Amino acid sequence: MKLKNEAALDNLIICHQCFTLHQEVPIKDGSKACCSECGGILYRYDTKLIDHGLALSITGLIFFAMANFFPLVQIEILGHEQFITIPKTIFSLIDNGFYIVGLLCMFLIFIFPLMIFTINMILFALLKLKSGEKWSKDLLILLAHITPWSMTDIFLISILVALVKLIGYAQIHMGVAFYSLIVFVLIDLYIVKRVHLSEIWMLRKRIMFEEFKI
Ligand SMILES: [Zn+2]
Repeated sequence: MKLKNEAALDNLIICHQCFTLHQEVPIKDGSKACCSECGGILYRYDTKLIDHGLALSITGLIFFAMANFFPLVQIEILGHEQFITIPKTIFSLIDNGFYIVGLLCMFLIFIFPLMIFTINMILFALLKLKSGEKWSKDLLILLAHITPWSMTDIFLISILVALVKLIGYAQIHMGVAFYSLIVFVLIDLYIVKRVHLSEIWMLRKRIMFEEFKI
């Protein structure tokens, strides 16, 4: 197949299971396109995704703020009490000379998750308002780069492992932030699993450009 220019690539879609190349065709709202070779789902088109995505990203941001502002755990060792919060953990790493680990933690469990949810919120808001053609494209490209770098789920598991090890030595009380972090991670996993970037890309194309409308 010969391509005239790079823009022609936008109308082609590859099957993730058998790697067959397909021409993208407009489909009805609420339906999906399947691969002609293996039957795998190529893409879906569902305008309800915009409202769901917007609601989920705003809820996620609220829980993210709660997870960062409130105490994560309260540890009591020999009558000595200490509250731990996510920013405090990061700053104490940097204060103690673990600059690289501290910076990595700052990016992986704070900056990237915050960016991902903010970008998702702006993207779905732009799609809802049917504006920002160029903006939405740039945001989607940025989102594709940073999505693999959000590691709040790994952070949550590492907290659980650390707490299990501490159970015998200290009294541990979970704070509001701990439960908020669990909800945030669940929303994050749901968005990653349910909302594929290709679907948002498809929605964008359908909403912003007239020729893709049925
Ligand atoms: Zn296929």
